[in-house]
Amino acid sequence: MSASVRTTCPYCGVGCGLIAQIDDAGVVSVKGDPDHPANRGRLCSKGSALGETVYLEDRLLYPEAHGEQVSWEQAIAEVAGEFSKTIEKHGPDSVAFYVSGQLLTEDYYVANKLMKGCIGSGNIDTNSRLCMSSPVAAYKRAFGEDCVPVCYDDLDAAELIVIAGSNTAWCHPVVYQRIVKAKKDNPDLKVVLIDPRRTQTAGIADLHLAIEPGTDAILWNGLLLALEDGGARAKEFTKDCTSGLDKALSAARESAPNLESVADTCGLPEPDVAEFYDLFTRRDKVVSVYSQGVNQSSSGTDKCNAIINCHLLTGRIGHPGMGPFSITGQPNAMGGREVGGLANQLAAHMELGSAKHRDRVQRFWNSPVIAQQDGLKAVDLFDAVHDDRIKALWIMATNPAVSLPDAGRVSAAIEKCDFTVISDCVADTDSTRLCDLRLPALTWGERDGTVTNSERCMSRQRPFLAKPGLARPDWWIVTQVARQMGFADLFSYEEPADIFREHAALSGFENDGARQFDIAPLADIDNDGYDDLEPVQWPVRSNGKIGGTARLFGDGQFSTPDGRARFIPITPRPAKSKTSAEYPFVLNTGRVRDHWHTMTRTGVSPRLSSHRSEPYVELHPDDAAAEKLENGALAQVTSPLGTTILRVELSEQQRRGSLFVPMHWSGAYSGQARIGALVAAHCDPVSGQPESKSSVANVAPFQSQWQGFILSRRQLKTDALSYWTRIRDRGLWRYEIAGDFPVADWSDKARGFLGTPDEDNWIDYYDEGARQYRAARFLGGRLDGCIFIAQDNQPASRQWLAGLFEEEELHIKQRAALLSGQPPADVEDQGAIICSCFNVGEKAILKAIGDGCATPAAVGNSLKARTNCGSCLPEIKELLIATRESRDGV
Ligand code: SF4
Repeated sequence: MSASVRTTCPYCGVGCGLIAQIDDAGVVSVKGDPDHPANRGRLCSKGSALGETVYLEDRLLYPEAHGEQVSWEQAIAEVAGEFSKTIEKHGPDSVAFYVSGQLLTEDYYVANKLMKGCIGSGNIDTNSRLCMSSPVAAYKRAFGEDCVPVCYDDLDAAELIVIAGSNTAWCHPVVYQRIVKAKKDNPDLKVVLIDPRRTQTAGIADLHLAIEPGTDAILWNGLLLALEDGGARAKEFTKDCTSGLDKALSAARESAPNLESVADTCGLPEPDVAEFYDLFTRRDKVVSVYSQGVNQSSSGTDKCNAIINCHLLTGRIGHPGMGPFSITGQPNAMGGREVGGLANQLAAHMELGSAKHRDRVQRFWNSPVIAQQDGLKAVDLFDAVHDDRIKALWIMATNPAVSLPDAGRVSAAIEKCDFTVISDCVADTDSTRLCDLRLPALTWGERDGTVTNSERCMSRQRPFLAKPGLARPDWWIVTQVARQMGFADLFSYEEPADIFREHAALSGFENDGARQFDIAPLADIDNDGYDDLEPVQWPVRSNGKIGGTARLFGDGQFSTPDGRARFIPITPRPAKSKTSAEYPFVLNTGRVRDHWHTMTRTGVSPRLSSHRSEPYVELHPDDAAAEKLENGALAQVTSPLGTTILRVELSEQQRRGSLFVPMHWSGAYSGQARIGALVAAHCDPVSGQPESKSSVANVAPFQSQWQGFILSRRQLKTDALSYWTRIRDRGLWRYEIAGDFPVADWSDKARGFLGTPDEDNWIDYYDEGARQYRAARFLGGRLDGCIFIAQDNQPASRQWLAGLFEEEELHIKQRAALLSGQPPADVEDQGAIICSCFNVGEKAILKAIGDGCATPAAVGNSLKARTNCGSCLPEIKELLIATRESRDGV
């Protein structure tokens, strides 16, 4: 066993510390770091499965230009040459970088420096624009600087936690686990959930407000008035430390004049709204946790400020157990914010709009130019690519052809752009397919640098794997291009520590306490100090000993010119897309528990893929009945921008009139489930964050002539299918397929999918009356592939069939069982996997409950489910409640 390495999870903004180890066989194992302040040893299902995602099959390992492998020298020369030529001919704003919250801070820093300080354009934006640019804009409006004033410890100290627009149980599971523990330790802690859906997070909520989508600002404006009228105003604090309260109260009175109107507009029972307001009024220690349900809106910045206003009115900020807490989606969204990864920021929390700041940063960098104005934000940036205003584009560590709204237009833009380069670790994504140059980047386990999580805590990502092929760190690639473009003096970095020291020095340059983002004491750390850097929250102070800062603004001093926090008057606006007779549903997008972004990493793990194995549309049973849709059928979801085909999942927890579709499935994993292609590109006017939660759509049955599935050891050609989606299983691929065209000869078609065998190695079964076909192909006695076709979705157990692939040879009875689609009586089908850590399925859990397990602990004792990472706890609780209700006839 090799020595263990302390590093950080590459997924969500919780930023959990990990301990990674490789055994003698090269197998990577991961456990939670008990000493990391973000998680104290806890992990979720995604973090726990990281070891399974570290393999090279899909990796981009060599630079490629126009489909041919080239040397790094050739690739760098072409990128530098094309960018220089384009800038010379069309000016600096004719080029752009689109980067990512997956980058390390050091990568981000050099990319920003090259664009803003050397090329002289603001055209660098990041996919973090899609997840947290509205909270950034709101913090800046309220505090004068992009500062999260809160830390995770505040969740432990709170008396009330309000979770708004966040399925924390699935999207930030370790924060959720922390709240569960806080509630256990303090039974008096109350949790209020504000979310149109009754998500898995509702399991810990004392009160769930299933709010009408898009009406959050009215609810918070109403709270502001209730606090004011209920005598909760912090008189000294608001008088001495804030400005603009009267205007905020007037705006609130306009939109939320009384409880009755708030309840009516928000679609909530009046007593529930009253209870929420009462709890917030009476409890001093309140943390408001918010995420994409608030942020991803055309008025997301206002919604965030409506929340902050309530904390300012009550003075609940900067002290233990209280504050407005935006939890970020990505592992290094915060690091990108520190270095100016957004098109409207300079480095180190300075602003492009300030001549003083531009001058300061240019002098610090000693750079030839500095961008004079904000660059284009993500959606506008790809519009400019589409319209040929941007002629050279470099995409780093992200997949915009899937993740941006109106993704079809984004794909077309990349395809038609004069010159496109992408640096990525994955060879085949929807975006890498479209680019002229593909540069192999390092990924988690190989990279070396820092990330900053939602609570401003900077942690090291340390390498423990060798660099594969010719893959290189992103900072190195940018540095080489910058040198070739003539900026060698400004890019003399030899290792990430050099960049980190410069970043730290800039944060302290002419700062004098004006900017909270200050890590200057770290500017002098040597390489060993950088290697050993412990997690630390900025601002970093040094009084002989370097230390971080848990909370901000406890002294009532803010980063605005007059030192006062600003109330922002909020006039609520509805979502931009309006439902109509043609598009009667609100289309909401979001994450599932075990996948991350466009599945480029989690999609390689069979156990993560088994939790939700197909893309789906979730809707209320009453809506489904009205649209003639059944659970498990295929549905066509259509917006004004496009159409997808998805499996129907009925849920009483879904609000009527709403559809929920996961955001993860890309063209690499499905034929027709790229939901970004349906999402309207409406953005918040202040932050530029797209409204990914409120598009409009209709839903109708997909009229298939047949449906089925294929298990195969090899990847299949899927071009001719109306519907397909695939996941990895153990040593094989599992495809779900469907067609809206007749197939005359299934025997022939099946051989086309699985490969033509000699007849001894082929068995099949055809029932013309039932229109069912099944076949299997063997190689050397081992099952090599099988196909099941019928009129509708096939109930046959994929799990049992996948298990047959592990046998060296199938005997005659097993072959017969296979063709019958029925597992032998002694083989139990577990159903959909709920506990990914121990591979425990829904049916097994229901059986345990039926056998008398009445609590999650009892289920854990019986099956081990939820006893490792605990991510499945909310679903086990749901199954317990559903069983109880069904027994009680509720
Ligand atoms: Fe990673 Fe899960 Fe922690 Fe997020 S909560 S950082 S995904 S282990």
